[in-house]
Amino acid sequence: MNNRLYGNLIFELSKAGRKGYSLPKADYGAYTTKDIPGMLRREADAELPECDELTVVRHYTNLSNNNFGVNSGFYPLGSCTMKYNPVINEEIAAMPAFTQLHPLQPIATVQGALEVYSGLQKALCALTGMGEFTLNPYAGAHGELVGLMAIRAYHEHNGETQRTKVIVPDSAHGTNPASAAICGLEIVEVKSDADGLVDVEALKPLLGDDVAAMMMTNPNTLGLFERSIPEITAMVHACGGLMYYDGANLNPMLGVSRPADMGFDVMHINLHKTFSTPHGGGGPGSGPVGVRKGMEQFLPSPHVAAAESFATEEAPATSLGQISAFYGNFLVALRAYVYILTLGRENIKHVGPLATLNANYIKEQLKDLYELPIDTVCKHEFVFDGLRDKSTGVTTMDIAKRLLDYGYHAPTIYFPLLFHESLMIEPTETESKETIDEFISVMRKIAEEAATEPETLKTAPHNTPIGRVDDVLAAKNPVLTYKG
Ligand SMILES: *Cc1c(COP(=O)(O)O)cnc(C)c1O
Repeated sequence: MNNRLYGNLIFELSKAGRKGYSLPKADYGAYTTKDIPGMLRREADAELPECDELTVVRHYTNLSNNNFGVNSGFYPLGSCTMKYNPVINEEIAAMPAFTQLHPLQPIATVQGALEVYSGLQKALCALTGMGEFTLNPYAGAHGELVGLMAIRAYHEHNGETQRTKVIVPDSAHGTNPASAAICGLEIVEVKSDADGLVDVEALKPLLGDDVAAMMMTNPNTLGLFERSIPEITAMVHACGGLMYYDGANLNPMLGVSRPADMGFDVMHINLHKTFSTPHGGGGPGSGPVGVRKGMEQFLPSPHVAAAESFATEEAPATSLGQISAFYGNFLVALRAYVYILTLGRENIKHVGPLATLNANYIKEQLKDLYELPIDTVCKHEFVFDGLRDKSTGVTTMDIAKRLLDYGYHAPTIYFPLLFHESLMIEPTETESKETIDEFISVMRKIAEEAATEPETLKTAPHNTPIGRVDDVLAAKNPVLTYKG
């Protein structure tokens, strides 16, 4: 890592006259560079680095090694599902037959692409029990907005325009209230009980004929299965509201249970969390929205219909309209479809149980040293509240920084806000027992170091190109110029 010889900046490696290319002599026919108008011509050569090819290759390879990804090490970032995405998905998504498509091509020439959309829509319906899906939304938050717009269109269709309230649990992902607000709806918060689940008693007084919907995340942000769902959906439906399922992290549910069977009317899925597509850098995503049978008419357009040949449907008058430039992020949908077909009907049933097993295994192996505020069976992730032994003064931040020294990406820290020292771990279903055991032994070692040499943790990381930064200073007063 960070080999000095190959430099931090390519300019530091420059040697006058050195070259890493050889180009054939340009043939401009009758023209010469003199034909370029003077005002557009450089007065002096551009100051470009001059390097041999090997230096350039090593420089960029070394820089790339400073990145941390799922392909370089274990990445237990809770709430984000940083799982391994099989290479075949990337290879297929990179095929020119797919990358060179244009959304304005005549429908007859894109039958294969529409078949991918249609096939994925069907697969998502089968996995969730929903009646129909749209693949238009570009992200999870976008899906939430579209789902709430469909709910609003449904109530308007029924002449119930007074339904303007959305009930959101206090543990919800921040995008839930944000999407409701952008949709012009009013947010009402419902509290969690001591077990970290929606408090049914606290929900009762919030229900009435002004409720448009209740949003629930399941498993919730603490990684817990919401056990009162049947009771909650019955209560919300009884008052005429609809149930919205935030299925951003569907891993633990895959092959185990389906949102439609739990009584949910509308949901979104993050393809870029549950169904392949790397998303660490915030790259293109996809947040398909599903609606239960009978609500298809409220979905956005364009919609891909499965007919003998694949066509796009005319939007019904009840549709919420168009919410994306075209059909959605095609290559993300393609990866998801390849992922689902590769696993197949039988193997996809193992995703949920394995994600759940891995998280519970880590939790049980560490809970004697790390504080587990809600000690129950979790789903795909769980939250520690720092070390059990608070006397060392070692914080969650120190633990996260020390993990970098051992070659791990840090878990999610200081989220959710329900605890002071939140440390949220999600191993995902794709990790081997050996990787998980190694992580557990490092976490135990760090707990031991907290007792014996707390200073090592407080000043960590020690093995990374940049040590501990002052978070506040780095955010408020960043130094953006390079000093060699
Ligand atoms: C990630 C996530 C979202 C938002 O998805 P984006 O694609 O980042 O917009 C919503 N809800 C939950 C529970 C999430 O984990």
